[in-house]
Amino acid sequence: MSSGPLFIVDSMHGNLCRWLRILGYDSEYWEGSDEDLIDNASSSGRIIITSDVELHRAALNKGLRSCLLHHQDVEATLAEVAAYVSRELNIPLEEFLKPRITRCSICNGALRQELKGIWRCTSCGQRFWIGSHWRNILRTIRRAYLTANRIRETY
Ligand SMILES: [Zn+2]
Repeated sequence: MSSGPLFIVDSMHGNLCRWLRILGYDSEYWEGSDEDLIDNASSSGRIIITSDVELHRAALNKGLRSCLLHHQDVEATLAEVAAYVSRELNIPLEEFLKPRITRCSICNGALRQELKGIWRCTSCGQRFWIGSHWRNILRTIRRAYLTANRIRETY
Protein backbone atom coordinates (compact mmCIF):
# COMPACT_ATOMS: atom_id res chain seq x y z
CA MET A 1 0.00 0.00 0.00
CA SER A 2 1.34 3.43 -0.89
CA SER A 3 2.09 5.54 2.13
CA GLY A 4 1.61 9.18 1.14
CA PRO A 5 0.10 11.88 3.34
CA LEU A 6 -2.49 11.03 6.01
CA PHE A 7 -5.51 13.24 6.52
CA ILE A 8 -8.08 14.08 9.12
CA VAL A 9 -11.16 15.65 7.55
CA ASP A 10 -13.61 17.73 9.53
CA SER A 11 -17.27 16.77 9.54
CA MET A 12 -18.34 19.34 6.93
CA HIS A 13 -16.42 17.50 4.21
CA GLY A 14 -17.48 13.87 4.32
CA ASN A 15 -17.73 13.66 0.56
CA LEU A 16 -14.18 14.94 0.11
CA CYS A 17 -13.03 12.41 2.70
CA ARG A 18 -14.46 9.56 0.60
CA TRP A 19 -12.66 10.92 -2.47
CA LEU A 20 -9.32 11.09 -0.66
CA ARG A 21 -9.82 7.39 0.15
CA ILE A 22 -10.56 6.66 -3.52
CA LEU A 23 -7.17 8.24 -4.21
CA GLY A 24 -5.73 5.77 -1.70
CA TYR A 25 -5.03 8.13 1.20
CA ASP A 26 -5.62 7.12 4.79
CA SER A 27 -8.29 9.69 5.69
CA GLU A 28 -10.10 9.84 8.99
CA TYR A 29 -13.51 11.47 9.05
CA TRP A 30 -13.84 13.52 12.22
CA GLU A 31 -17.12 14.27 13.97
CA GLY A 32 -15.78 15.01 17.46
CA SER A 33 -14.68 18.26 19.06
CA ASP A 34 -12.07 20.59 17.59
CA GLU A 35 -9.77 20.05 20.61
CA ASP A 36 -9.84 16.30 20.11
CA LEU A 37 -9.26 16.73 16.39
CA ILE A 38 -6.14 18.79 17.13
CA ASP A 39 -4.91 16.19 19.64
CA ASN A 40 -5.47 13.44 17.10
CA ALA A 41 -3.63 15.35 14.34
CA SER A 42 -0.82 16.11 16.73
CA SER A 43 -0.27 12.47 17.72
CA SER A 44 -0.98 10.89 14.32
CA GLY A 45 0.76 13.43 12.07
CA ARG A 46 -2.40 13.73 9.97
CA ILE A 47 -2.95 16.84 7.86
CA ILE A 48 -6.10 18.68 8.94
CA ILE A 49 -8.62 19.44 6.20
CA THR A 50 -11.18 22.04 7.21
CA SER A 51 -13.08 25.12 6.13
CA ASP A 52 -13.25 26.37 9.73
CA VAL A 53 -10.89 29.36 9.95
CA GLU A 54 -10.67 29.22 13.76
CA LEU A 55 -9.77 25.55 13.77
CA HIS A 56 -7.25 26.16 10.98
CA ARG A 57 -5.57 28.98 12.96
CA ALA A 58 -5.53 26.95 16.18
CA ALA A 59 -3.86 24.08 14.29
CA LEU A 60 -1.21 26.35 12.77
CA ASN A 61 -0.50 27.85 16.21
CA LYS A 62 0.25 24.33 17.44
CA GLY A 63 2.64 23.81 14.56
CA LEU A 64 0.31 21.34 12.80
CA ARG A 65 -0.30 21.05 9.08
CA SER A 66 -3.71 22.33 8.06
CA CYS A 67 -5.29 22.87 4.67
CA LEU A 68 -8.01 25.53 4.71
CA LEU A 69 -10.75 24.92 2.15
CA HIS A 70 -12.67 27.74 0.47
CA HIS A 71 -15.10 25.63 -1.51
CA GLN A 72 -17.64 22.88 -0.91
CA ASP A 73 -17.89 20.80 -4.07
CA VAL A 74 -15.68 17.78 -4.61
CA GLU A 75 -13.72 18.90 -7.66
CA ALA A 76 -12.77 22.26 -6.14
CA THR A 77 -11.91 20.88 -2.69
CA LEU A 78 -9.88 18.00 -4.15
CA ALA A 79 -8.06 20.63 -6.20
CA GLU A 80 -7.42 22.71 -3.07
CA VAL A 81 -5.95 19.72 -1.24
CA ALA A 82 -3.84 18.79 -4.29
CA ALA A 83 -2.50 22.35 -4.57
CA TYR A 84 -1.75 22.30 -0.83
CA VAL A 85 0.27 19.07 -0.90
CA SER A 86 2.04 20.17 -4.06
CA ARG A 87 3.11 23.37 -2.30
CA GLU A 88 3.82 21.98 1.18
CA LEU A 89 5.04 18.45 0.49
CA ASN A 90 6.30 18.77 -3.09
CA ILE A 91 4.00 16.01 -4.29
CA PRO A 92 3.23 16.66 -7.98
CA LEU A 93 -0.44 17.22 -8.79
CA GLU A 94 -0.58 14.33 -11.25
CA GLU A 95 1.01 12.02 -8.67
CA PHE A 96 -1.42 13.05 -5.93
CA LEU A 97 -4.54 12.95 -8.12
CA LYS A 98 -4.31 9.33 -9.15
CA PRO A 99 -6.91 6.73 -8.20
CA ARG A 100 -5.50 3.77 -6.29
CA ILE A 101 -7.65 0.84 -5.29
CA THR A 102 -6.14 0.42 -1.86
CA ARG A 103 -8.58 1.93 0.60
CA CYS A 104 -12.28 1.52 1.35
CA SER A 105 -14.14 4.74 0.55
CA ILE A 106 -16.76 3.89 3.19
CA CYS A 107 -14.70 3.03 6.28
CA ASN A 108 -11.04 3.80 5.39
CA GLY A 109 -10.09 0.12 5.80
CA ALA A 110 -7.47 -1.54 3.61
CA LEU A 111 -8.67 -3.29 0.43
CA ARG A 112 -7.49 -6.70 -0.62
CA GLN A 113 -7.91 -8.08 -4.11
CA GLU A 114 -10.36 -10.97 -3.99
CA LEU A 115 -10.78 -11.91 -7.62
CA LYS A 116 -9.61 -10.37 -10.86
CA GLY A 117 -11.08 -6.87 -10.85
CA ILE A 118 -12.79 -7.30 -7.48
CA TRP A 119 -11.56 -5.94 -4.17
CA ARG A 120 -12.91 -6.44 -0.69
CA CYS A 121 -12.49 -4.24 2.38
CA THR A 122 -10.62 -6.10 5.12
CA SER A 123 -12.47 -4.03 7.70
CA CYS A 124 -16.15 -3.73 6.70
CA GLY A 125 -16.36 -6.40 3.98
CA GLN A 126 -17.66 -4.07 1.26
CA ARG A 127 -16.78 -5.19 -2.29
CA PHE A 128 -15.48 -2.81 -4.98
CA TRP A 129 -14.97 -3.29 -8.68
CA ILE A 130 -14.08 -1.17 -11.66
CA GLY A 131 -17.39 -0.71 -13.44
CA SER A 132 -19.05 1.97 -15.49
CA HIS A 133 -18.78 4.40 -12.56
CA TRP A 134 -15.01 4.31 -12.96
CA ARG A 135 -15.15 6.63 -15.95
CA ASN A 136 -16.98 9.22 -13.84
CA ILE A 137 -14.38 8.90 -11.12
CA LEU A 138 -11.57 9.51 -13.62
CA ARG A 139 -13.44 12.46 -15.10
CA THR A 140 -13.89 14.10 -11.69
CA ILE A 141 -10.23 13.57 -10.86
CA ARG A 142 -9.22 15.02 -14.23
CA ARG A 143 -11.31 18.15 -13.61
CA ALA A 144 -9.82 18.48 -10.12
CA TYR A 145 -6.38 18.33 -11.73
CA LEU A 146 -7.20 21.16 -14.14
CA THR A 147 -8.62 23.25 -11.29
CA ALA A 148 -5.57 22.53 -9.11
CA ASN A 149 -3.31 23.81 -11.90
CA ARG A 150 -5.29 27.06 -12.00
CA ILE A 151 -5.23 27.43 -8.19
CA ARG A 152 -1.48 26.84 -8.10
CA GLU A 153 -0.82 29.61 -10.61
CA THR A 154 -2.45 32.11 -8.28
CA TYR A 155 0.03 31.47 -5.45
ZN1 LIG B 1 -14.65 -0.75 4.53
